[in-house]
Amino acid sequence: MGKTLNRSVAIVGSGPGGIYVAQALLEKSPGCRIDIIDKLPTPFGLIRGGVAPDHQNTKRVDRKYSETATAEGVRFLGNVTVGSDVSLAELTETYDAVVLALGAPYDRRLGIPGEDKAGVIGSNAFVGWYNSHPEFRDLEPYLDVDAAVVIGVGNVAVDSARILAKSKAEMATSDIADYALNRIEASKLSDIWMMGRRGPVDAAFTNIELRELAEMENCDLDLDPNQLPKDVPTGMDARRRVAKVRILETLWNMSELSSHDRRRTLHIRFQARPVEILGNARVEGIRMEHTRIENGHAVGTGETYDIECGLIITCIGSVARPIEGMPFDEKSGTVKNTDGRAAPGLYAAGWAKRGATGTIGTNRLDSYAVTDLIVADFAGEAKPGPDGFDELAASHKLNPVSFDDWLTIKEAEEQAAAGPAPRRKFSTVADMLATLQKSRKRA
Ligand code: NAP
Repeated sequence: MGKTLNRSVAIVGSGPGGIYVAQALLEKSPGCRIDIIDKLPTPFGLIRGGVAPDHQNTKRVDRKYSETATAEGVRFLGNVTVGSDVSLAELTETYDAVVLALGAPYDRRLGIPGEDKAGVIGSNAFVGWYNSHPEFRDLEPYLDVDAAVVIGVGNVAVDSARILAKSKAEMATSDIADYALNRIEASKLSDIWMMGRRGPVDAAFTNIELRELAEMENCDLDLDPNQLPKDVPTGMDARRRVAKVRILETLWNMSELSSHDRRRTLHIRFQARPVEILGNARVEGIRMEHTRIENGHAVGTGETYDIECGLIITCIGSVARPIEGMPFDEKSGTVKNTDGRAAPGLYAAGWAKRGATGTIGTNRLDSYAVTDLIVADFAGEAKPGPDGFDELAASHKLNPVSFDDWLTIKEAEEQAAAGPAPRRKFSTVADMLATLQKSRKRA
C-alpha cells in the first residue's frame, strides 16, 4: 500500500468506464489523488447522454457515481477537452497514470452508396439529440416524413425506434429534451422500420428491451411470422440459449398482436441488409437485399426490395476517434491497448478500451482489472498530479467546472422540470455556465 501514497491518476471521461476506475483506485490505492476530466460540464457520460430518457431507473446509478466523484482525494474537472484545452502529453507528464475512458461516441459507417445524403443520421447523433447533448441539440432530424428506417437490431436501435414511436403522454416521466419531444409528437411519421441483417436468434437486442416495444400505447407492431423460427438451434452455450429462447417467445407473441390502427406502426424485419440509400440530395428510400446466413455472417442473395423513407437512423455500433498522442486501432475503433495498457503511464478503460459492447455493469469488472495493472505499474518518483494540473489550467486560462458546480446545474435542471419529469436538461454549455455565474453572483 505504501508505494501508492502520493500517486496521482487522471481519468479522461466521467462515464461508467472512468468512474469505475476511480472507484477501484479508492479501494486499491488509498491516498491516491484522482482527477476525473470531462469535456462537458456534466458528469457520467452515457448515463446522462446515452441511456434512454424513459429509462430513469437505469440512470439512478448516478447516485453511487456521485459518491465516488465526491470521495476524498477525487476531483471532477468538467468543461476541459483533452486534445485541445490540454494535450495528452501534458497530462502524462503531470500524472503517474492517465486513463483514457472517453467512450466510443462516433457512429460506424454503413459503407454503401448514398450514405451521405441528407436524412441519414447515426444513432450517436440521434440519441444525443433527444438526450439534450450540447453537440447534437441542433441536429434537426427529418421528421416531416411518413416513414423512418432504423438500421440494426441492437438495444440502441430498440431505443431509437421506441423514442420515435412513443406518445408525448408516455414520455411525461422522462427527461427527454422538450424540442425533441415536441418534434416527434408533431411528426406525421406513420411507419418505422427496424431492420436486422441476420435472423431473430442473432439479433443483438435483449429481451427486457424488446418486450417494451409491445407495451407502447401509440404504436402497432408488424412482424412477419415467416421470418421467425419455431425454435432456437441447439449447440450454443446454455445461458445464451435460454436468453435466445425468451427473445424468440417475445417475437412470436409480438407477431400475434392484432393491429389497433394506432398512429404509428413499427415494422420489424430480419435477414435484409442495406445496399443503397436512394434519392437525390435528400433521402427518399433505402434498397435492402435479402440475406442468407453463412458461417454466422449475412450474405446477400441478390434479391432486393426498396422501402420509401425520408429518415434513416443507423444503429450499427460506435467507435472512438484518436486524439494526438493516443495509440489507436482503426479497425476496432478503440485505443490500441493490451488488457488496458496503451503506453507507459497511459491506459484505456470502458468502451474506448474494448469497443462499444456490454451493459453498464460490464465496465465495473473491466475497470477494476485495469486498475490492478495501474497500481502494479506505479514506480519511480511521484509526479505532481492535481497541483500540476492546476498550474496547467492557470497557464491555459481554463476554468474547470467542479462537482459542486455540477450540483448547482443539476439543481437548476430539477427545478425547471415540468410535472412528473425528473429534470429539464440544459442543452448548451453556455446555458450551464450562465447558470453557474448567476449562482456565484447570488452567493
Ligand atoms: P450492438 O449491440 O453491437 O448492435 C449493432 C447492430 O447493428 C447489430 O444488429 C448488428 O448486426 C447491426 N449492424 C452492424 N453493422 C451493420 C451493417 N453494416 N448493416 C446492417 N446492420 C449492421 O450495438 P448497439 O445497439 O449500439 O449497442 C451497444 C452496446 O450498448 C450493446 O452492448 C447494448 O446492449 C448496449 N446498450 C444497452 C442498452 C440497455 O440495456 N437498455 C441500451 C442501449 C445500448 P450484426 O449482429 O449482424 O453485426
